[in-house]
Amino acid sequence: MIKKPKGCEDIIFSDAKKIKYIENIIDEVMEKYNYNYIDTPIFESTELYHRSVGEVSDIVTKETYDFTDRGGREMTLRPEGTAGVVRSYIENKMYGMADQPIKLYYNGPMFRYERPQAGRDRQFSQFGVEVLGSDDALVDAEVISLAYNIYKMLGLSNVVVNINSLGDTESRDNYRKLIVDYFTPHIDSLCDDCKRRLDSNPLRILDCKVDKDSKIMKNAPKILDSLNKKSRKHFDKVCEYLDVLQVPYSINSSIVRGLDYYDHTVFEFVDNSMEGNANVLGGGGRYNNLVNELGGRDIPAVGFASGISRVLLALESEEVELDIRDDIDLFLLYVNDTEKNYALYLAQELRMSGFIVETEYLNRSLKAQFRQADRLKSKFISVLNSNDLDNNEIKIKNNKTKEEEIINLDALIYYLEEKSTDEVLEDIYNLDN
Ligand code: AMP
Repeated sequence: MIKKPKGCEDIIFSDAKKIKYIENIIDEVMEKYNYNYIDTPIFESTELYHRSVGEVSDIVTKETYDFTDRGGREMTLRPEGTAGVVRSYIENKMYGMADQPIKLYYNGPMFRYERPQAGRDRQFSQFGVEVLGSDDALVDAEVISLAYNIYKMLGLSNVVVNINSLGDTESRDNYRKLIVDYFTPHIDSLCDDCKRRLDSNPLRILDCKVDKDSKIMKNAPKILDSLNKKSRKHFDKVCEYLDVLQVPYSINSSIVRGLDYYDHTVFEFVDNSMEGNANVLGGGGRYNNLVNELGGRDIPAVGFASGISRVLLALESEEVELDIRDDIDLFLLYVNDTEKNYALYLAQELRMSGFIVETEYLNRSLKAQFRQADRLKSKFISVLNSNDLDNNEIKIKNNKTKEEEIINLDALIYYLEEKSTDEVLEDIYNLDN
């Protein structure tokens, strides 16, 4: 038997329904914030990721799926969304459009060759936003609050934002020197990755998962103390706007993020009900130099990305009941061919009017059809009968109360609409009491 690749998932049945639900909420919230959906290629030239994510980042050195296409071009399956969006922004000259800043959102599969574990797959879906063309701290705060509100709309109540600032290039250069001076005498006591990072990317030492609780790490100089005046002001403004938006955040100086392109604000969303590293639902930050580094103009930008499967794990951890239907409105049962034709026709009419309708596909006995209707939790059932249908009538039974009525066929849609309204009202009444 051929099996799925390691670190990949078949998303099926109830999980698939939950993911569709999550995606609908994402679309709804993005629409309210007036973000435009963008769909970029799933593979791009390898060079794009080397220049954006960073030559020495973990993603580029260890995790990309690279291949040479039949034309001899070096290609990479996208490990994250920002690089492709920024490439598209430059290629489509979005900086020249009338509406600025450009507000974009995406949702789709990403690929990283990681060691698979809970919440860490080799193919996973991320949704995210990028806002290009404004350096106002309001945008940083809006992006953070947008993500926070998606989690909240989904019913998550234990999500907090950890936020930090890496400052501008000047602040970061100063801090990098401080950090190298600080860690150099202690380097033998740190893990192999940290030893490597001291030369290549010293800031990443700070978010080392191995050494995070060591005294050396805890006493390391804080980047917020190295911010120059301009960077400090930007960070203070972001915090002020988050207060206005009532987003709960905590300042955490160990957040540096794994991708090389960030400056100023960086943030992560953590679900406190979850254990282990999979409790990071998403993160992002400002990247004022990336557009320029990829060959575009000097355009400031900010964005975030969140893993859909992590959100699903968080919903399970917080035991959130999603408002997803697991029943159907009507099951049409039949015996002979005339009734079968009617079932086919009526099912189509009712489905096009918005009802979830099922009928028999396997020519089973009536008894087996009743069982199937129960399995599907059909609210109503109707055993089609040629005589009734000739009289333009249909017998319909409430599958819960077992009450049965004969109604005019022309009134069927109205009847089902009325019954579902009654049910909604009853639910509201029960909630109120
Ligand atoms: P990153 O692009 O590394 O900043 O990751 C942003 C978010 O994407 C993380 O917080 C996760 O929710 C999700 N994510 C990243 N890598 C994986 C993965 N290998 N499997 C599942 N989700 C992931």
